[in-house]
Amino acid sequence: MKDFEQHLIHTYNRSVVFDQGEDVYLVDTDGKKYLDMGAGIAVSALGYSNTEFKEALKTQIDKLIHVSNLYYTEPVIKASEYLSEKSGMDRVFFTNSGTEAIEGAIKLARKYAYNKNPESKGEIIAMNHSFHGRSMGALSVTGTEHYRTPFEPLIGGVSFADYNDLDSVKNLVTEDTCAILLETLQGEGGIYPADEAFIKGIRKLCDEKDIVMILDEIQCGMGRTGKYFTFEHYGIRPDILTTAKALGCGFPVGAFAAVEKVASAMVPGDHGTTYGGNPLAGAAVCKVFEIFEKEKIVEHAAEIAPYLTDKLNGLKEKYPELIKDCRGLGLMQGMELTIPAADVVKKALEKGLVLISAGTNIIRFVPPLIIKEEHIDACCEILDSVFASN
Ligand SMILES: *Cc1c(COP(=O)(O)O)cnc(C)c1O
Repeated sequence: MKDFEQHLIHTYNRSVVFDQGEDVYLVDTDGKKYLDMGAGIAVSALGYSNTEFKEALKTQIDKLIHVSNLYYTEPVIKASEYLSEKSGMDRVFFTNSGTEAIEGAIKLARKYAYNKNPESKGEIIAMNHSFHGRSMGALSVTGTEHYRTPFEPLIGGVSFADYNDLDSVKNLVTEDTCAILLETLQGEGGIYPADEAFIKGIRKLCDEKDIVMILDEIQCGMGRTGKYFTFEHYGIRPDILTTAKALGCGFPVGAFAAVEKVASAMVPGDHGTTYGGNPLAGAAVCKVFEIFEKEKIVEHAAEIAPYLTDKLNGLKEKYPELIKDCRGLGLMQGMELTIPAADVVKKALEKGLVLISAGTNIIRFVPPLIIKEEHIDACCEILDSVFASN
């Protein structure tokens, strides 16, 4: 740990040296086992022991790791078919991360507006308390001032509305608005699901004014809330969708996808990436979708989620002075505390439970989607003992 802190730029407060993964557990270098309710921040949906997934990656490594995007490869063609089919989008662009998916989405929305009117100012409405990533474009639309301020000037033309307040969005719309961008379920900002009237209202607004609706499902997509994508709960569809995190279940890959009308605004030369969607990434994405289908991962997430919700609510009833609220959708749940989340996270870790926080006083539950009742029981028992000792 000391060596690490000497040589890395200090952007994270780290703890524990993890060495291995096993089912839904992580094992540290001393052999201590931890139940993982964070899944590498909503990434490792299949847990750590899916042999078929690992074998698929090994096979592709032996075959071909990389060629540039100047050529076709079969894994990427198949991966784009899967993602289009499951998301209802027409065209896909693969990236290496979530933040790059956001960069691409912003560029695509601006290009669409530019084609309609080269004088367009390309304004974007984003949400307060949103999180979209750390690169300059994604940072520009992230609704937390202390993330943004030290890095200004950022890209211009961005304004922030209040999540779940449709009037606050309407008030910001101008002739130059090219996109409205939001998470379908706010993650980092504290686990806030969208109200149905809010998200449908934005859809309607975008339709009326030909504004591009961008939904960021980097965290809440890929089965996390019991549907492939969270927007399906609302019976709407975005114009651009971003995904990453569980898309590669640990292999770094993201994507932005769009409906034909918007996607066709981009032509060769408008956007690119050296690594994005290389054959190894393609093989990972294909296998994730294949396993999701075969093992009914999304259905399982939908089925098991109420058990987690009930258990968390049980804790809330038991500790009303410590737990202010429990909310979320599917296997993306938040527990708002009256005490700092960091203290609970630390104590839970000592007891063999990996939790992550969202904001200063919210615990975020984003376990592997293969989690079972017995794991949820174990998680809540440890939490119970942490709260009891508080
Ligand atoms: C994690 C996350 C991102 C950024 O993804 P990275 O892969 O870390 O760049 C963007 N949007 C949302 C909603 C996220 O949860």
